[in-house]
Amino acid sequence: MTSPKHRGFSRLVSCLQSGLLAQHRKKGETIKKEMASGQMSRDEALECTSCRHACHVMLYSETASQLFGRIPIRYIVLMQMRFDGLLGFPGGFVDPSEETLEEGLTRELLEELGVAVPISTEDHVESCFSLPCSGKYSSSSRLILHFYVKKIEEDQIREIEKAAASTAADHGLEVLGMVRVPLYTTKSDGGLSSFLSHSFIGVARSQLINSLLRLHLVSPGALREALRGSQRKHAESAQNLQEVLKLTGEQP
Ligand code: AMP
Ligand code: MN
Repeated sequence: MTSPKHRGFSRLVSCLQSGLLAQHRKKGETIKKEMASGQMSRDEALECTSCRHACHVMLYSETASQLFGRIPIRYIVLMQMRFDGLLGFPGGFVDPSEETLEEGLTRELLEELGVAVPISTEDHVESCFSLPCSGKYSSSSRLILHFYVKKIEEDQIREIEKAAASTAADHGLEVLGMVRVPLYTTKSDGGLSSFLSHSFIGVARSQLINSLLRLHLVSPGALREALRGSQRKHAESAQNLQEVLKLTGEQP
């Protein structure tokens, strides 16, 4: 379905957005070569034994349900509200010396979702460096992010949502709740626009956008419109924050 060219392009875009390509280019390592092209395969990433690795997955399904009985939902895409108040994908740190990336991701899913969703190498989409929090390169903070996408059945999504709010070990701790991504648009930039205007961890927003495009879940035109709406929403939000700040007694 997806051409290797498009897949490579998506990988390049989100890896470029992670911002570390240029910095890694200066370092004399084997990874430099792969990163210069913006691509790093799963195997190439694993060659970096001094790096830390984290794996996350976008789980999604088709659905026939309709919002208000008339707006087709089309797809259910799962994300989560993280402990840090940011939106992200389920997953976490994996130690490749102890388990495969996919085994580690499945273990993380059991903790965060309460269901050990099996993930395989076929679900792998991209691997790239993450921007360290400090914004400065240091060998101790090198983190490689591995991103996966897996299509499952709607029933499984419902099972995950139930387990995530009941039996999952991380519920209320690392994970504050699962959320579905609205792919439709309602009036006044509602739906996808509003969703994309929230704050996301690391490159999660570009991982989401690339996946929506690559899997044809949203058309490029609709996505462009939604992103323009997000910018408007963001501006409104900044203004609203300015106003609510006054409620705390702060003078303008
Ligand atoms: P977690 O345990 O899920 O917080 O993920 C492990 C590490 O990956 C943390 O340092 C997160 O800040 C980082 N992280 C999680 N999701 C993303 C993402 N989508 N893009 C960039 N970094 C991420
Ligand atoms: Mn996590």
